[in-house]
Amino acid sequence: MFKKILIANRGEIACRIIRACRELGIQTVAIHSEVDRESMHVKLADQTICVGHSSASDSYLNIPSIIAAAEISGADAIHPGYGFLAENTYFAEVCEACGIKFIGPSKESIEQMGDKISAIELMKKSGIPTVPGSDGPVRDDDPRIFAIAKKIGYPVIIKATAGGGGKGMRVVVSSETLQNAIIMAQIEAKAAFGNSDVYMEKYIEEPRHIEFQILGDKYGKIVYLPERDCSIQRRHQKLIEESPSPLINEALRKKIGKAAKNVASIINYVTVGTVEFLVDKKGHFYFMEMNTRIQVEHPVTEMVTGIDLVKEQIKLAAGERLYVASEKVKILCHAIECRVNAEDPDKDFIPSPGKIGRLYLPGGLGIRVDTHVYSGYVIPPYYDSLIAKIIAFAPSRGEAIMKMQRALREVEIEGIKNTSSLHSKIMSNEVFRKGYVTTDFLSKHIFER
Ligand code: ADP
Repeated sequence: MFKKILIANRGEIACRIIRACRELGIQTVAIHSEVDRESMHVKLADQTICVGHSSASDSYLNIPSIIAAAEISGADAIHPGYGFLAENTYFAEVCEACGIKFIGPSKESIEQMGDKISAIELMKKSGIPTVPGSDGPVRDDDPRIFAIAKKIGYPVIIKATAGGGGKGMRVVVSSETLQNAIIMAQIEAKAAFGNSDVYMEKYIEEPRHIEFQILGDKYGKIVYLPERDCSIQRRHQKLIEESPSPLINEALRKKIGKAAKNVASIINYVTVGTVEFLVDKKGHFYFMEMNTRIQVEHPVTEMVTGIDLVKEQIKLAAGERLYVASEKVKILCHAIECRVNAEDPDKDFIPSPGKIGRLYLPGGLGIRVDTHVYSGYVIPPYYDSLIAKIIAFAPSRGEAIMKMQRALREVEIEGIKNTSSLHSKIMSNEVFRKGYVTTDFLSKHIFER
């Protein structure tokens, strides 16, 4: 087992990883930017190193500085968390070259899933159902785009090959707006990922986003855990996740779970990862992508299965065997996670950084809160706006919703705007309560005009 792990991240996930390390008896090194000196992860770690100025490119994405910090502190492994360098092949390669274990899959696995077009192609070749699409990049100045879209059938969706966080996506309903949508998606993709490549897919109407947590060891054993339903999204970004999905039965769970396991087997996957699918109204499912890291929404699976995914991830990276078996995993409860962001829901969700005054976060039976904020903490404007994840778990979905509602009523965050009121609105919505959730739920039932 590792002796000392450097956490190449910040915020709630860095705190989550430090806690897992501590329970495993592993020393921790927190890196931080100048502005993050007073951050919770810095307070929790055994050792801390400032790696650069406040912007992410100077600090949490600064590979030479992070590697130097690992070498100086004598860390034998690096946990990248999510975002930042978590799916950066070059970083995984540099870690390996420096004799530091990257806590994640092999660089080959990251590479195979990093480019969405080649990932989809590989899965299609291997018999995994995929959404009909352009089978390659499309460009706005290519006259063939109209024929491709017609063949796929409108509506289509334009997506960035390097995509993430729902950026660079455009839904197109007819040929009149196709070219413009491709131009806009290319610009957005270039700005977000430094790569303007986009592709085209059939837009599945009223789908559900269903994903499966995968665990794999270096001896070739792979298991899948019960699904997460992440259909509550705003602009293709997840807002609420739950497990199990209210609309998936045991037979469909097995069918998609096995496909997810196959996806991971195809790339000899080791450690934890997530295979994402779209499921249409008829129960047909399509591979969307695989995230080769721990996800923001991992706690719902932890509550439902009783498995500590971060500890498992560390153990698997250290070469330990997987003891879990898919057939033996029981669904112990229903869990729901609300992502509370420092954003103003009344002003089109603009970020709301600043100093937190009085802070009260909920607790009690059936509530877990993963956060890095505290009273007096200043939320910097440089990074993402997630400030807390509230997870409610109970024997049934109805009880979990009730718990979440009462937990949200307890939330008090003075000094900044946050999205907890939006979550309360969703929890009391009849359609949500009945479990009829699809990815257009928010635009249809919450933001309707
Ligand atoms: P990202 O990597 O940016 O998160 P994904 O490929 O995971 O992008 O898609 C994010 C969300 O966008 C999905 O959960 C879904 O709501 C929507 N989406 C993506 N592809 C399609 C599609 N072909 N049809 C309908 N919705 C889609």
